[in-house]
Amino acid sequence: MPIAPEHLALLYTGPFDAYLYGRASRDPKKKGRSVNTQLDEGRSLCIENEWPIKREFRDVDRSASRYAKKAREEFEEMIDGIESGDCRILVAWEASRYYRDLEVYIRLRNACMANGVLLCYNGTVYDLSKRSDRKATAQDALQAEDEADGIRDRNLRTVRKSASTGAPHGRILWGYARRYDPDTGDLVEQYPHPDRAPIVLQVFERIAAGETGYAILQDLRATGERLPGIRWEQHHLTSMVRNIGYKGRRLFQGKDVGKASWDAIVDDDLFDAVQQIVRAPERRTANSWAAVHLLSGIARCGRCPDAPHLKILNNRGGILSYQCSERYDVVIAEAKMDAYVEEAVIEYLESKAAIAAFASTDDQKRTAAARQRLKQLQGQLDDARGQAGKLGPTGTPLLSIASLAALEASLTPQIEEAKAASEVLHVPPVLRGVIGRPDVDSIWQEMSIEQRRAVLRAVVNVRLMKARVSGLRKIEPGRIVLTFYGEPGFVSAWRRGRVTAPAPDAGAPQD
Ligand SMILES: [Zn+2]
Repeated sequence: MPIAPEHLALLYTGPFDAYLYGRASRDPKKKGRSVNTQLDEGRSLCIENEWPIKREFRDVDRSASRYAKKAREEFEEMIDGIESGDCRILVAWEASRYYRDLEVYIRLRNACMANGVLLCYNGTVYDLSKRSDRKATAQDALQAEDEADGIRDRNLRTVRKSASTGAPHGRILWGYARRYDPDTGDLVEQYPHPDRAPIVLQVFERIAAGETGYAILQDLRATGERLPGIRWEQHHLTSMVRNIGYKGRRLFQGKDVGKASWDAIVDDDLFDAVQQIVRAPERRTANSWAAVHLLSGIARCGRCPDAPHLKILNNRGGILSYQCSERYDVVIAEAKMDAYVEEAVIEYLESKAAIAAFASTDDQKRTAAARQRLKQLQGQLDDARGQAGKLGPTGTPLLSIASLAALEASLTPQIEEAKAASEVLHVPPVLRGVIGRPDVDSIWQEMSIEQRRAVLRAVVNVRLMKARVSGLRKIEPGRIVLTFYGEPGFVSAWRRGRVTAPAPDAGAPQD
């Protein structure tokens, strides 16, 4: 479904570096607006929605021969920029600007689609990776000529509407509410929403406490929808925890531009603690806009002695494969390898072996001991409090207030210490609440590809060996060698640079 610009930040993670594209009208009556007017309107749309403008392109009348060369150059430059990942969203005002001829449209569409660039026109944002949006934009392309007048009317209505709201930003940050002057309609203040602000605070606190986004997401879903008709999704959390608006700062064009007029929901310390967690290297890919493959950079070549990682290879005919990134000596269809590894990993995560592997580490033992100690200390304190409240046969408390105070003074720091020690968990956060669960399969389905990659990195070394016979449909034994955490030969820091891989199985096929 197409998205209204003001909702983009709810659905996608910024920054939304924008290209503006203004294209001259070719209609003889010159009904279309000038390139400058289009660019002006595109600029205000970007500013309203806090999309940093990276570049502007103006395409003058392509039919006029003396401009034609220059116009083509600008257009090619824009396509190059899109292809180099320089922008995240392409903004133009009227569909007819893009779609004056289908050739232009098709090139733009393909470039945007291939590079994950959003397309915005008529005040609507399209994500061309979605089939429905591709269909909608293609229909617009075909109808552009007929609809030129209608489109212009709609645009004018959009402009008037956004001008009349008088809001400093197009969108309101979830967790806040706004108060408007009943007479003038002007915005009076933005304040923490009484029901939603506590939810925001809780999300930050739980992440700081080491909980996974997945666990938090399940709880949020259990308590209700984010907005009527919109359930909570992982990306809502992802953009929430990075939004400096929650600590009362204003973001403009991707930069912190100072204190906001609204109160913070999250204090600076908590916000910073959460940034440390969400910006950790293993999570950094979670917001990468680029398409990510399950095993690229994770699985290794089992043939080369230094075990270079596998990379994605786009075969003729659009079939994706994994291939040794250095010697091209092993290759396998991506879908085949993904399915094989996923199945094995799910089986492992559900297994007793996984529970044992993660439970037997010293860290786990230490944590369990700390929890036990915490329980004892708290029990001791509770008993003492109980005794102080009871009178003995002589009519005096079983424990004097002075003794209780002394005991409390001695127990409290010990309890705090045990509490801290029991919270140190060395299981990678992404694995908490996953290992040993009977429903790993459904948990896996709910995970994003980045979470799955994080799980794979933590629990398995994957090596691809050479096929005995090429073109086999089934994966023969020994073709993909998996070494799980807890098994001999597992290398836990494999992802960090090149290290010597475990020796390939002697029995594995080598040719
Ligand atoms: Zn190789």
